[in-house]
Amino acid sequence: MKMRKEKLSWVEIDKKGFIANLRAFRKRIGKVKLCLVVKANAYGHGIVQVAKIANDHVDWFSVATVDEAEVLRQAGIKKTILILGYVTMKHLVEVVKQGYHLTVFNFEALQRLSAIATRSGKKAYIHLKLETGTHRHGIMEQDLLAFGDYLHEHPELSVEGASMHFSNIEDTTDHTYAMKQLDRFEHLVGRLEADGIHPKLRHTACTAATILFTKTYFDMVRLGIGAYGYWPSRETFVSAKERKAKMVLKPILTWKTVIGQIKKVPTGSAIGYGGTYKTTRQTRIAVLPIGYYEGYDRGLSNGAYVLIRRKRAPVRGRVCMNVMMVDVTDIPEATLEDEVVLLGSQGDETISAEQLASWAGTINYEIVSRIVPELPRIVV
Ligand SMILES: *Cc1c(COP(=O)(O)O)cnc(C)c1O
Repeated sequence: MKMRKEKLSWVEIDKKGFIANLRAFRKRIGKVKLCLVVKANAYGHGIVQVAKIANDHVDWFSVATVDEAEVLRQAGIKKTILILGYVTMKHLVEVVKQGYHLTVFNFEALQRLSAIATRSGKKAYIHLKLETGTHRHGIMEQDLLAFGDYLHEHPELSVEGASMHFSNIEDTTDHTYAMKQLDRFEHLVGRLEADGIHPKLRHTACTAATILFTKTYFDMVRLGIGAYGYWPSRETFVSAKERKAKMVLKPILTWKTVIGQIKKVPTGSAIGYGGTYKTTRQTRIAVLPIGYYEGYDRGLSNGAYVLIRRKRAPVRGRVCMNVMMVDVTDIPEATLEDEVVLLGSQGDETISAEQLASWAGTINYEIVSRIVPELPRIVV
């Protein structure tokens, strides 16, 4: 997608804060490899900008798709790239050709990779994703031996890793299920080993696991949301406190727009589609050139604030596709093209991703990752 040239709304990334977050995790994990997850446009932060800053501070990158891997390579990133998500049979050619590491959970992919690797005289670098209880992608235990047999016969398939993903580590302070998954993982890796398959790296940890459980680290952690300065959940924050796991995280994203019009409307005016808000006084409305298309959730209609001149301005009426309205009656100094903070700080006021998530009925992950990629990401 072509990036917008015009700064109607944009995202600023705090480079120093980002490096500080990465250093904090590095300190925590020691010599364990740090794989930075930059899927979903680096959780909305801008994949190229983020990868360039992070390049000297992490060991690997991981992405969801082969396209994202290509974006990293085109940006000059030379580190190992692990693809976490599904790649179609057609595009496995790219994976082998470019030497991307691929998370594998389908037997069909194994066969196709083998054919491509053999034909091109290259190796295919694979990470076996083991099913331990998330029931998303993953190899079921009953299929593991077939994978093993095939791998024995196909040395062009290089088993670089074995991995799993926790399903219930952020949503609770009770980590019984997560620990069960970890046991399953060790059991399954044990079976692979007994079968003579020796994955070079074992990795299971997302941010919550990295903060809470050293024993989930093995050889590498796959760090996502924490690197960008957000806690995975309130439960993770509470669990970390209980475990005295000290982590200082600083959110590094500020999302801004400008005021596109200011006008006075009389008492009793209906604001926006459906007339869901009616003014109860003479009101100064500021119209902002941003809406749900850009990623400002429609669920925030009549239920959020933005920051203007270091003060909170409430959202009035429904958020439209590319436009929204806020009330600046109590901010008389507000004028055309004033900077507006949708997410982040201005003066002493802050609108956090968690606060927006709570207003919109979702999680911080979704709030940041849905900021549309075509808005400029500016490193400050
Ligand atoms: C997204 C993702 C991660 C990172 O999770 P965070 O909670 O953001 O740290 C790790 N592993 C896999 C497989 C993922 O899909």
